Amino acid sequence: MRTFSLQLQLLVRSAAAPLVELLAPPRCGICECEGALLCAECRAEWISDRAVALPAGNLSAAAALGPYEGGLGAAIRTMKYGGVQGLARELGEALVPAIKQVSARAAFQVTLVPIPTDQGRVHERGFDHAALLATAAGAAAHLPVRRLLARVRSTEPLHGATRSARALIMQGAMSCREDVELPSAVVLVDDIQTSGATAREAARALRVAGVRWIAVVSVAYER
Ligand SMILES: [Zn+2]
Repeated sequence: MRTFSLQLQLLVRSAAAPLVELLAPPRCGICECEGALLCAECRAEWISDRAVALPAGNLSAAAALGPYEGGLGAAIRTMKYGGVQGLARELGEALVPAIKQVSARAAFQVTLVPIPTDQGRVHERGFDHAALLATAAGAAAHLPVRRLLARVRSTEPLHGATRSARALIMQGAMSCREDVELPSAVVLVDDIQTSGATAREAARALRVAGVRWIAVVSVAYER
Protein backbone atom coordinates (compact mmCIF):
# COMPACT_ATOMS: atom_id res chain seq x y z
CA MET A 1 0.00 0.00 0.00
CA ARG A 2 2.82 2.30 0.96
CA THR A 3 4.61 1.52 -2.26
CA PHE A 4 1.41 2.08 -4.18
CA SER A 5 0.85 5.50 -2.64
CA LEU A 6 4.47 6.44 -3.31
CA GLN A 7 4.06 5.39 -6.92
CA LEU A 8 0.85 7.40 -7.09
CA GLN A 9 2.60 10.44 -5.66
CA LEU A 10 5.39 10.14 -8.20
CA LEU A 11 2.86 9.72 -10.97
CA VAL A 12 0.91 12.80 -9.89
CA ARG A 13 4.11 14.76 -9.52
CA SER A 14 5.38 13.80 -12.96
CA ALA A 15 1.98 14.38 -14.56
CA ALA A 16 1.60 17.74 -12.83
CA ALA A 17 5.18 18.89 -13.50
CA PRO A 18 4.42 20.67 -16.81
CA LEU A 19 1.46 22.43 -15.14
CA VAL A 20 3.57 23.52 -12.15
CA GLU A 21 6.17 24.79 -14.62
CA LEU A 22 3.48 26.81 -16.38
CA LEU A 23 2.01 28.33 -13.23
CA ALA A 24 5.18 29.16 -11.31
CA PRO A 25 7.31 32.00 -12.64
CA PRO A 26 10.27 30.43 -14.45
CA ARG A 27 13.57 30.42 -12.61
CA CYS A 28 16.99 30.20 -14.15
CA GLY A 29 18.26 26.61 -13.96
CA ILE A 30 21.76 27.89 -13.17
CA CYS A 31 21.55 30.99 -10.89
CA GLU A 32 17.88 30.58 -9.84
CA CYS A 33 16.95 34.19 -10.62
CA GLU A 34 13.32 34.67 -11.69
CA GLY A 35 12.29 35.36 -15.26
CA ALA A 36 13.55 32.65 -17.60
CA LEU A 37 14.69 29.01 -17.54
CA LEU A 38 18.14 30.25 -18.60
CA CYS A 39 18.74 33.93 -17.89
CA ALA A 40 20.65 36.15 -20.31
CA GLU A 41 23.66 36.43 -17.98
CA CYS A 42 23.98 32.68 -17.53
CA ARG A 43 23.54 32.09 -21.26
CA ALA A 44 26.32 34.57 -21.98
CA GLU A 45 28.58 32.95 -19.41
CA TRP A 46 27.94 29.23 -20.01
CA ILE A 47 26.32 28.61 -23.40
CA SER A 48 28.85 29.01 -26.19
CA ASP A 49 28.29 28.84 -29.94
CA ARG A 50 31.55 26.94 -30.22
CA ALA A 51 31.51 23.43 -28.84
CA VAL A 52 34.52 21.76 -27.26
CA ALA A 53 35.84 18.87 -29.37
CA LEU A 54 36.42 15.78 -27.23
CA PRO A 55 38.53 12.65 -27.80
CA ALA A 56 36.23 10.58 -30.02
CA GLY A 57 37.76 7.11 -29.51
CA ASN A 58 36.30 4.82 -32.17
CA LEU A 59 33.52 7.28 -33.02
CA SER A 60 33.86 9.80 -35.86
CA ALA A 61 33.60 12.88 -33.63
CA ALA A 62 32.60 13.96 -30.12
CA ALA A 63 31.81 17.40 -28.70
CA ALA A 64 30.18 19.10 -25.72
CA LEU A 65 29.17 22.65 -24.87
CA GLY A 66 31.63 22.81 -21.98
CA PRO A 67 32.73 21.30 -18.66
CA TYR A 68 30.27 19.87 -16.13
CA GLU A 69 31.79 21.90 -13.32
CA GLY A 70 29.97 25.24 -13.15
CA GLY A 71 26.84 26.42 -14.93
CA LEU A 72 26.24 23.53 -17.32
CA GLY A 73 26.34 21.00 -14.47
CA ALA A 74 23.93 23.15 -12.45
CA ALA A 75 21.52 23.33 -15.41
CA ILE A 76 21.70 19.54 -15.93
CA ARG A 77 21.01 18.87 -12.23
CA THR A 78 18.04 21.27 -12.23
CA MET A 79 16.67 19.53 -15.33
CA LYS A 80 17.16 15.95 -14.14
CA TYR A 81 16.76 16.05 -10.37
CA GLY A 82 14.62 19.19 -10.12
CA GLY A 83 12.32 17.80 -12.81
CA VAL A 84 12.41 20.98 -14.92
CA GLN A 85 11.66 19.50 -18.31
CA GLY A 86 11.54 22.93 -19.98
CA LEU A 87 15.29 23.17 -19.46
CA ALA A 88 15.76 20.20 -21.79
CA ARG A 89 14.34 22.33 -24.58
CA GLU A 90 16.73 25.20 -23.84
CA LEU A 91 19.76 22.91 -23.54
CA GLY A 92 18.71 20.85 -26.57
CA GLU A 93 18.50 24.00 -28.71
CA ALA A 94 21.92 25.03 -27.39
CA LEU A 95 23.34 21.77 -28.79
CA VAL A 96 22.75 22.81 -32.41
CA PRO A 97 26.24 24.34 -33.01
CA ALA A 98 27.84 21.20 -31.50
CA ILE A 99 25.75 19.00 -33.80
CA LYS A 100 26.77 21.08 -36.85
CA GLN A 101 30.39 20.91 -35.74
CA VAL A 102 30.55 17.11 -35.39
CA SER A 103 28.51 16.41 -38.51
CA ALA A 104 30.51 18.74 -40.77
CA ARG A 105 32.42 15.79 -42.23
CA ALA A 106 29.55 13.30 -42.41
CA ALA A 107 28.85 12.23 -45.99
CA PHE A 108 25.11 11.81 -45.30
CA GLN A 109 22.44 13.81 -43.50
CA VAL A 110 22.66 12.90 -39.84
CA THR A 111 19.83 11.57 -37.70
CA LEU A 112 19.81 12.41 -33.98
CA VAL A 113 19.49 9.41 -31.66
CA PRO A 114 19.13 9.90 -27.89
CA ILE A 115 21.27 7.61 -25.77
CA PRO A 116 18.64 5.67 -23.80
CA THR A 117 18.51 6.25 -20.06
CA ASP A 118 18.20 3.34 -17.63
CA GLN A 119 14.44 2.59 -17.45
CA GLY A 120 14.42 2.63 -13.64
CA ARG A 121 15.70 6.20 -13.67
CA VAL A 122 13.19 7.23 -16.34
CA HIS A 123 10.37 5.91 -14.12
CA GLU A 124 11.77 7.69 -11.05
CA ARG A 125 11.97 11.04 -12.84
CA GLY A 126 8.94 10.69 -15.07
CA PHE A 127 10.86 11.67 -18.21
CA ASP A 128 13.84 10.67 -20.34
CA HIS A 129 16.10 13.73 -20.43
CA ALA A 130 18.21 12.54 -23.40
CA ALA A 131 15.09 12.01 -25.51
CA LEU A 132 13.86 15.53 -24.63
CA LEU A 133 17.28 17.02 -25.46
CA ALA A 134 17.38 15.23 -28.83
CA THR A 135 13.81 16.24 -29.70
CA ALA A 136 14.54 19.92 -28.98
CA ALA A 137 17.84 19.82 -30.85
CA GLY A 138 16.24 18.12 -33.86
CA ALA A 139 13.43 20.68 -34.03
CA ALA A 140 15.91 23.56 -33.82
CA ALA A 141 18.39 22.07 -36.33
CA HIS A 142 15.70 20.66 -38.68
CA LEU A 143 17.14 17.18 -38.35
CA PRO A 144 15.30 13.88 -37.92
CA VAL A 145 15.22 12.37 -34.43
CA ARG A 146 14.73 8.64 -33.91
CA ARG A 147 14.73 6.57 -30.76
CA LEU A 148 16.57 3.61 -32.24
CA LEU A 149 18.30 2.36 -29.11
CA ALA A 150 16.95 0.56 -26.05
CA ARG A 151 18.44 -0.69 -22.83
CA VAL A 152 18.39 -4.48 -22.76
CA ARG A 153 19.15 -4.67 -19.05
CA SER A 154 19.35 -2.25 -16.16
CA THR A 155 22.77 -0.95 -15.16
CA GLU A 156 24.10 0.35 -11.87
CA PRO A 157 24.90 4.09 -11.86
CA LEU A 158 28.28 4.89 -13.43
CA HIS A 159 28.93 7.75 -11.06
CA GLY A 160 32.00 6.97 -8.94
CA ALA A 161 33.00 3.91 -10.99
CA THR A 162 36.48 3.71 -12.51
CA ARG A 163 36.99 3.94 -16.25
CA SER A 164 37.44 0.19 -16.67
CA ALA A 165 34.48 -0.56 -14.39
CA ARG A 166 32.29 1.76 -16.47
CA ALA A 167 33.18 -0.11 -19.65
CA LEU A 168 32.26 -3.43 -17.99
CA ILE A 169 28.98 -2.08 -16.60
CA MET A 170 27.90 -0.83 -20.03
CA GLN A 171 29.08 -3.81 -22.10
CA GLY A 172 26.12 -5.25 -24.02
CA ALA A 173 23.62 -3.00 -22.20
CA MET A 174 21.98 -1.64 -25.36
CA SER A 175 20.41 -2.88 -28.55
CA CYS A 176 19.33 -1.19 -31.75
CA ARG A 177 15.94 -1.61 -33.43
CA GLU A 178 16.37 -3.76 -36.49
CA ASP A 179 12.78 -3.81 -37.71
CA VAL A 180 13.13 -0.36 -39.32
CA GLU A 181 15.24 1.21 -42.03
CA LEU A 182 18.33 2.64 -40.38
CA PRO A 183 20.07 5.95 -41.16
CA SER A 184 23.64 5.90 -42.50
CA ALA A 185 24.87 8.62 -40.14
CA VAL A 186 23.90 9.15 -36.51
CA VAL A 187 24.71 11.82 -33.94
CA LEU A 188 24.11 10.42 -30.46
CA VAL A 189 22.70 12.89 -27.92
CA ASP A 190 23.19 12.75 -24.14
CA ASP A 191 23.50 15.14 -21.20
CA ILE A 192 27.03 14.25 -20.01
CA GLN A 193 30.05 12.46 -21.46
CA THR A 194 32.51 11.13 -18.90
CA SER A 195 34.59 8.10 -19.84
CA GLY A 196 32.76 7.62 -23.13
CA ALA A 197 31.67 4.11 -22.06
CA THR A 198 27.97 4.83 -22.61
CA ALA A 199 28.51 6.38 -26.05
CA ARG A 200 30.80 3.48 -27.06
CA GLU A 201 28.12 0.97 -26.09
CA ALA A 202 25.48 2.94 -28.02
CA ALA A 203 27.80 3.07 -31.04
CA ARG A 204 28.50 -0.67 -30.80
CA ALA A 205 24.77 -1.45 -30.89
CA LEU A 206 24.24 0.88 -33.88
CA ARG A 207 27.18 -0.61 -35.79
CA VAL A 208 25.99 -4.17 -35.24
CA ALA A 209 22.70 -3.08 -36.82
CA GLY A 210 24.52 -1.50 -39.80
CA VAL A 211 24.89 2.23 -39.06
CA ARG A 212 28.21 3.34 -40.56
CA TRP A 213 28.97 6.87 -39.31
CA ILE A 214 28.48 7.77 -35.64
CA ALA A 215 29.33 10.87 -33.59
CA VAL A 216 28.19 12.06 -30.15
CA VAL A 217 27.28 15.41 -28.61
CA SER A 218 26.41 16.25 -25.04
CA VAL A 219 25.64 19.32 -22.98
CA ALA A 220 28.65 18.82 -20.71
CA TYR A 221 31.80 16.75 -20.44
CA GLU A 222 33.37 15.48 -17.24
CA ARG A 223 36.95 14.33 -16.75
ZN1 LIG B 1 20.95 32.63 -14.52
